[in-house]
Amino acid sequence: MENYLDTLNPQQYEAVTSTEGCIRVIAGAGSGKTRALSHRFAYLVNEIGIMPGNILCVTFTNKSANEMRQRIHNLTGDNDTGFISTFHGFCNTILLEESYAVSYPKNFIVLDNADIDEMLRMIYEERNLTLRHMTFSKARDMIEIVKLKERPEYYLDLIHMNVEQLKEKYLRAHTPKDIIFYGYLYQQKKCFGLDYNDLILLTLYIFENHEDIKRKWQEKLEYIMIDEFQDIDDLQYRLMKVLAGFHQNLFIVGDPDQTIYTWRGARIQYLMDFDREFPNVKTIMMPQNYRSTPEILNAANSLIAKNEQRIRKELVPVCPHGLAVQVHEAKTEKEEARWILQTIQSLHQEGIEYRDIAILYRAHYITRSIEDEFLKEELPYTIYSGVQFYARMEIKDALSYLRMIVYKDDLSFLRVVNTPKRNIGERRMKFLKNYAEQNHVSLYEALKLCVDDDLFKATKGKAFIALIERFSKEYPGQPVSEVLTSLLDQSGYETMLRTEGSQERLDNLAELKQSILDYEISCGEEADLEHYLAHIALFTNADLEMKQNSVKLMTVHTAKGLEFEHVFLIGMNEGMFPTKKVNSLESMEEERRLAFVAMTRAKKSLFLTESNGRNFDGSPKYPSRFILDIDPRYLTFTPPMSETLIEDARQYIEIHERFLRFKIDQPAWKAGDRVEHAVFGPGTIVDTDPLNNVHTIRFDKLNTERKISYRAKLKKIEAQ
Ligand code: ATP
Ligand code: MG
Repeated sequence: MENYLDTLNPQQYEAVTSTEGCIRVIAGAGSGKTRALSHRFAYLVNEIGIMPGNILCVTFTNKSANEMRQRIHNLTGDNDTGFISTFHGFCNTILLEESYAVSYPKNFIVLDNADIDEMLRMIYEERNLTLRHMTFSKARDMIEIVKLKERPEYYLDLIHMNVEQLKEKYLRAHTPKDIIFYGYLYQQKKCFGLDYNDLILLTLYIFENHEDIKRKWQEKLEYIMIDEFQDIDDLQYRLMKVLAGFHQNLFIVGDPDQTIYTWRGARIQYLMDFDREFPNVKTIMMPQNYRSTPEILNAANSLIAKNEQRIRKELVPVCPHGLAVQVHEAKTEKEEARWILQTIQSLHQEGIEYRDIAILYRAHYITRSIEDEFLKEELPYTIYSGVQFYARMEIKDALSYLRMIVYKDDLSFLRVVNTPKRNIGERRMKFLKNYAEQNHVSLYEALKLCVDDDLFKATKGKAFIALIERFSKEYPGQPVSEVLTSLLDQSGYETMLRTEGSQERLDNLAELKQSILDYEISCGEEADLEHYLAHIALFTNADLEMKQNSVKLMTVHTAKGLEFEHVFLIGMNEGMFPTKKVNSLESMEEERRLAFVAMTRAKKSLFLTESNGRNFDGSPKYPSRFILDIDPRYLTFTPPMSETLIEDARQYIEIHERFLRFKIDQPAWKAGDRVEHAVFGPGTIVDTDPLNNVHTIRFDKLNTERKISYRAKLKKIEAQ
């Protein structure tokens, strides 16, 4: 066998063999950072003799964790691959062992958005709130902001208050915000549910308050390695510092040009200041790009060079030459989709596999036109982001059935007790809720206690209880996939879908069963139902590796860290990519980094597509400034773009940039300020409306006030 160390370049070799202390790799896209990281794992295990269980390897998504596990398995030949997971996943692992320290049982539930929505629904119903007060998605954001920023000590309530106390706090709340927030904490405590932020905060809390537990994990983790470090946020950073506190062997890799999560709290400074925060940091650069053709790399480099806030860094291509990056302009969105379809078909005829083709985009909604065309022509495709697979109704139902037989929690009960119909509708449910409340029992217990009452005579409550009890007794020791198959059969759930004719939902269930089979194979011994349920809640769409040979569709955020032979980056129009939401120079630079990430995913060929016409609001559509940013030497246009369109686009972009800059440089323009307008001359600002980006100005020369857009050239007249 070829020695895996021989395939490394000198910088990679240094990164792999420098095992002690703090090492930082700062290097560009496709330079082999992730590769160095997995080889380093193998080196630690194979050459140094470290136990995999003493290494923690943090990746950004579950999908990359799976890939990393596979890579490391190939290199070490060992099934034990240590801890390879996301920060959230690792906290989940820690809490499975330590949650007793915060009086949480081992069978806590990791909540996803759909679970949270379910809780919100109960709260809204109970306290007569409507979506007019706050939509669910706003409420989820609000909860997150309160937890992270406004009341970061909230988790003390969650830990120290019992259900009754939290309930009281909730009932005493009277603003919608407080009602929702405390209602949520109360619901959380009732079913021992934890959301993603809680996972990290509770872990930190345990470490801060239990020296022995902290020490145990610190000692265990002899080596810590973190991929995509440019996107680490405050909580993750704190956690990392604690975990590395004993052995202080930290290996981090990142690329400042690929920071794309500052909007969610990521801080590039943690990567840049790493050498000031930790002692004797060795920094390694990797100057070569092994992923893309020189054409693709040069195009991407010329794009990112347009960012002002940036440390210059050169990336030299190693791959042989290929085709120029192709830009296609279509007349309409539909024609754009058609062109993509036809180009993929001809690539396929040349012998290229569908699975080697990816379509990347900024926002989900654009996939609709693509899907329409692909469905018509029966071109196989898989969407990796969008409505999350695990958030689909039938998948939630199936998983709730599984949770029901293990945990018998209220959340699962509410989902499944009347699905399929067992005649336990609203009235009976209300009764159960009251009964459960008064007697301090779960809803399931309440049903068991009341099932012989007259009220439940006409229901199938008894059969439901018999089903749950039987499966609860029988599932231990059985493969999860078999448990699920017979549960879906005997509960009547699949029959219900069949009667409804929901083939798509049945297909999704089949996909779920397949993913459980895969899980059982990769986990071996550990694969029991509790273990499966503990991990499933952290999964997202991107983790579901579809077996089919199909074209992959995903957002650029999902594509982070991945690579594909052929990439279509679509919807490259102003207002789409960059999105309309960009409102500062900083966020425009983040947007450009995102485009850079997208382009650098491609290995052999890259297509950028856009369409003209009009936006929803009637304004003309322009090609994205990111296309215009790229050095035209590296592009071919099919068909050539019209000069006037390019001219118009440039003008529009210039105005927009001025607008962004203007807001940054002079954010504090206010009523009373004196300004000079290029045509109307001097005037006084009467009012400013930042939402609509207009000032109301009384000009000295005019009789009436005018509304003037922020985009206009205004100069401030300093007070004498
Ligand atoms: P990103 O910033 O996008 O995450 P990266 O720096 O992590 O990129 P990798 O994914 O590790 O880059 O590597 C990119 C590609 O280059 C992979 O296909 C990898 O196998 C290949 N590669 C990296 N180093 C070498 C090398 N020394 N010899 C041959 N191929 C290499
Ligand atoms: Mg990488």
